[in-house]
Amino acid sequence: MSPHPLQVPFQAPDQNLPAASSGIGEINALNARAWDLREKDAPQALRLAQQALDLADSLEAGGSPYPHGTAQALVTLGELANSQDAYGLALTYLLKAYTLLQDLPDQELLADASHAIGWVQYRLGNFTEAADFLQSALTIYRRLGLQEKEATVLSSQGILSSAEGKHHQALEIYKKALLLHQGQGITRARGVTLNNLALTQIYLEMYGDALDNAQAGLWVMRQLGLSSLEASILDTVGQVHLARGEMSKAEEALQKSLAISRQAGYEHVEMVAMLSLGRVYIRWKRVEPACQMLSRLIELAGERHLNSFCYRAHELLAGAYEQQGDDQQALLHYKEFHAVQNVALAESARYRMENLKILHQVEKERKDAEMLWLQNRALESQIEAYRHDHAELEKLATIDALTRLFNRRHFVTLGEYELEKAQRWQRPLSLIMLDVDHFKRVNDTFGHAAGDTVLSAIARTIADNARRGDVCCRYGGEEFVILLPDTEISAAIGVAQRICQAVAALYVPIAPQPVSLSASLGVAQSAGQDENLEDLLERADQALYRAKSEGRNRVAQ
Ligand code: GH3
Ligand code: MG
Ligand code: MG
Repeated sequence: MSPHPLQVPFQAPDQNLPAASSGIGEINALNARAWDLREKDAPQALRLAQQALDLADSLEAGGSPYPHGTAQALVTLGELANSQDAYGLALTYLLKAYTLLQDLPDQELLADASHAIGWVQYRLGNFTEAADFLQSALTIYRRLGLQEKEATVLSSQGILSSAEGKHHQALEIYKKALLLHQGQGITRARGVTLNNLALTQIYLEMYGDALDNAQAGLWVMRQLGLSSLEASILDTVGQVHLARGEMSKAEEALQKSLAISRQAGYEHVEMVAMLSLGRVYIRWKRVEPACQMLSRLIELAGERHLNSFCYRAHELLAGAYEQQGDDQQALLHYKEFHAVQNVALAESARYRMENLKILHQVEKERKDAEMLWLQNRALESQIEAYRHDHAELEKLATIDALTRLFNRRHFVTLGEYELEKAQRWQRPLSLIMLDVDHFKRVNDTFGHAAGDTVLSAIARTIADNARRGDVCCRYGGEEFVILLPDTEISAAIGVAQRICQAVAALYVPIAPQPVSLSASLGVAQSAGQDENLEDLLERADQALYRAKSEGRNRVAQ
């Protein structure tokens, strides 16, 4: 797993809460304690926040509601769910808090909730929503003059920009954050920003700067005695050395990260370090320690059902065996890689859909808090039921069985949703339509099964070359569409060209000799308020037709 950007934590909420009746005082005390404990003792924090929530509920049932107490408990619960990667749950809590806070005077808590929602949206791959919520948190903190919190939001915005591939913009944002951190002393938030800055600099191949910043971040975490973050930043240091080809230095940093995280029981960090070490040993051509490390990682991640670690380890192992000439083992691990990755992909697609449903509701009902509350409840039980009983059915209804991309039906649902959103917020939206060139020949020459293999390889190429937040679908037969929210046509053409080149470079082992493949792509951007999805598709299709008639294996607009 590539190094993980770290989230800057929130500061403890203000203690100047309304002093009043015993119920309210108790809720405030529980909330404050839960917030303090949320990193050191998450299970206890969870119990306390839940108690605060129950107490606030009973006040409400008794006719004297204390919505501020409810909102604060919900923010803590959302943060706890977030730190356990339970993003769907986190979002449900946080959106409830956000809705309640619309009518309350506590702007700071509203901004805390917005920041947390922005972060969760980022983790779910909904970059547009993430940017909106982060921006509104930033505006509030700025207005309140809360510089340290402003810096934490900037740090999150930097991560988002970097994830969108805008590394230079991220650099600028991190620099602003560091300026704000100055004068706040040695804080955890500052160390986190330094680490994230270093990660962006690795992408930009600014290795010297990356190393300096990571070292500075390490120093901060050591001063503060935060060993889990020290271990995370050591992974960043390892990444810099790996990128520079300094294998023994990379090994040293990563082994240290592993030792610290193992000793303290930070399993997630431990697994990240194991994966990084596997990668280092493979680059170093030390196949035996690589295999040992990765096999252990597969066991560990398997026990915890952490699919993404599993499939990445299998992928690396397959590469290692291939390097060694052991094709049989390589094949075995490639198969495992695909199997586990498919499971993980289906899970994340399901996740995204649940989340879209919630968001859809929220946007529609933003102004009607009470309705929203009720609907969220209904939605929650709907999602629960759907999780337990209809997972398979729902998957069939949204995912194409051969390629694992969204199917046409679901494309229409998502497309209409994205188009409406783009029109409402006056954001660009682009669409790419892809048709495989002379695909009939593939079927005719190598058979239908080989054709299917080619289609799933092309689907994977599309998914690999699209960005997070882009929606990839199989539109039918050998036609695919990619929906690019918040994207101007010029950027969409860039994505299309990347996909076009990747398809042309694709090697699919369906015959003894290499089979040449290509695709034609048409790109269109949504034209404005009255255009519907069919019109947009129609224009992308016309562009596709031009690409075909101009000679195929190309992009047209
Ligand atoms: P071009 O688009 O470059 O004009 O040529 P083409 O050969 O790709 O043209 P056409 O669109 O007419 O052919 C598409 C072929 O795709 C015909 C159909 O049999 C095949 N096809 C559609 N769905 C599947 C599928 O699920 N699996 C396989 N193997 N083939 C499929
Ligand atoms: Mg066709
Ligand atoms: Mg075709």
